[in-house]
Amino acid sequence: MIDVTLVGTGGMLPLPERWLTCMWLEYNGKACLTDCGEGTQIALRKHGLKLSRLDAVLITHFHADHVAGLAGLLLSLGNCGKTDSLKIYGGKGTAQIIKNLCCICPFLPFEIEIHELPFNEQSEFSWNGITIKSLPLKHSISCLGYSFTLERKPVFLPEKARMLGIDVKYWNRLHSGNSVEINGKTITPEMVTGEHRRPVKITYITDSLYFDKMAEFASDSNLLISEGMYGDDEYKEKMAEKGHMVFSQSAELAKKSGSELLWLTHYSPALTNPQEYSDMIKSIFPDTVISRDGECVTLK
Ligand SMILES: [Zn+2]
Ligand SMILES: [Zn+2]
Repeated sequence: MIDVTLVGTGGMLPLPERWLTCMWLEYNGKACLTDCGEGTQIALRKHGLKLSRLDAVLITHFHADHVAGLAGLLLSLGNCGKTDSLKIYGGKGTAQIIKNLCCICPFLPFEIEIHELPFNEQSEFSWNGITIKSLPLKHSISCLGYSFTLERKPVFLPEKARMLGIDVKYWNRLHSGNSVEINGKTITPEMVTGEHRRPVKITYITDSLYFDKMAEFASDSNLLISEGMYGDDEYKEKMAEKGHMVFSQSAELAKKSGSELLWLTHYSPALTNPQEYSDMIKSIFPDTVISRDGECVTLK
């Protein structure tokens, strides 16, 4: 079970009623935050998210609206009594950025483990049992998109196990994918489990102009979080020049990638009422949410 909260939905500047775009993902008691613009620690508190669970931070790129809140977040974590290490993942140069930011918070009661990822090719790593992949995006500076995939065990079928006379003490091992030997007979996991289950996948893409590879990267997502600076197509070219998308491009991306649900985010401060594009955008991809701060879902 993965809980996802879109903590903020703004781009460029935090506004009184719109915090900057970032995603809180919680699984198995640990949380990971993707992006951390100015004021993020306040937005996290506003949505009731527990800082004590924060184990990792992922940064997409080094524009202020995605990274300038890190020092405040680190100080808040220190004040919360965090003592176990915090992992920070980001493109090449992340260590230098953290070093610079940390000059205003030099005495933190926890270690920071920095993991730099390539900006020029895809990469993959594992966090908390979740496979995270990065994709180089096309923005005005180097930027990464991320996907989070959790493989799921097939359902255990107790009636089959009982029919085969398998003692309960072996069930956990079988469900974990191990065969067991009982009275000289080998019992394989397939004998007592259901069909393969589709993994849970979340993809987070901001900031970038549209390009075809995104659809493959986001393929079969249960949830695609993707940027839209404006709702109106008349801004499409201007936004592409700046390395951004408009709503319709994210809706096309959701459709092409076979995603189940699209959450739009990263609105321009000039876009005061993104909801007014709801009908237009749902005509392209019906399962679109023009997200508000604090949008949340539990994916099973
Ligand atoms: Zn941005
Ligand atoms: Zn940017």
